Amino acid sequence: MDLEPEDAFISLSTLEAYIEKHPEDAEKWLDFLPTAFKLAMTPRQTIYARSSRDPPAAELLEPHINIITPNTETPIEHYLDGCLVCKKTWASTDGVPTTTLICGHTYHTVCYMYQYYENDATRCIVNNCDIDTWDYIRTIYRNKRSRKNRAENLLLNSFKRRADFKQDITHLKGYISEFNKAQGRIEGLIKNARRDLIHKHIFSINHLQGDMNTTVKDLQETQEMLNYKLSIQKFRKHAATIFRKYHTSFRELHVNGIIKCSWRARGVLERHRALGFYKLGCRIYPGRKLITDPLANEVDSDSDLAED
Ligand SMILES: [Zn+2]
Ligand SMILES: [Zn+2]
Repeated sequence: MDLEPEDAFISLSTLEAYIEKHPEDAEKWLDFLPTAFKLAMTPRQTIYARSSRDPPAAELLEPHINIITPNTETPIEHYLDGCLVCKKTWASTDGVPTTTLICGHTYHTVCYMYQYYENDATRCIVNNCDIDTWDYIRTIYRNKRSRKNRAENLLLNSFKRRADFKQDITHLKGYISEFNKAQGRIEGLIKNARRDLIHKHIFSINHLQGDMNTTVKDLQETQEMLNYKLSIQKFRKHAATIFRKYHTSFRELHVNGIIKCSWRARGVLERHRALGFYKLGCRIYPGRKLITDPLANEVDSDSDLAED
């Protein structure tokens, strides 16, 4: 997707550099980017790169899978003889990458990470080893971060004793408090304006809401709604028998690919979520684009139906 700022005077790289330095202002700059970008900003953002969707290469997987398969030789007991996770000797696993922790104890890299993945545990398992590598990693990380912060604050700290800096900051604080007061006042006005708007249109709003309630009531009484409820009942009756008979669950059948079902249907069938009528709701915001009549032309209403 091409993300080009709407403002020709700001290049994307400038924007990126700025946001990196001042993340607190990021939201403000989003106004300069087209709507497509806002849509792409899903709440589940990750800072790490997505892992590749390619299946693991067999020749890389093979030697490591052998490690976790049962031992054909006598399991080792001492860390000097082999890896304590898979209990295999160093001699029999020659060439398999290893990791040595800060305590000096060595494991197969895959075994160490396998253990971490399985138990969420990263402590060394050698008897009486009381050196927690992660404690050291935490300390190293914190030292590095605080050194970086100290360096960054150096310049600012040097200003702190200067009279003109103090005076400038006093002025800045004055402007901040002035802004806070002005913001408080305009927010009060907006709140009052909303109150007045609702007051002025209360009959129309109540009329709209009343219509919605009638529509919901009418929908509840349609044959389609009866069919909908009946289809759920039929499913639940049969599903309950199957789940008891085969000691299984909806989730298990779904995960194993025995039944296929959309997440929306699962919400109702598996999680017993009731059908909501929130889609009937209608949000009205101020803006240049007024709400359009969905029935005004055929194309629009057709696409609406297609979306549902
Ligand atoms: Zn191992
Ligand atoms: Zn250790």
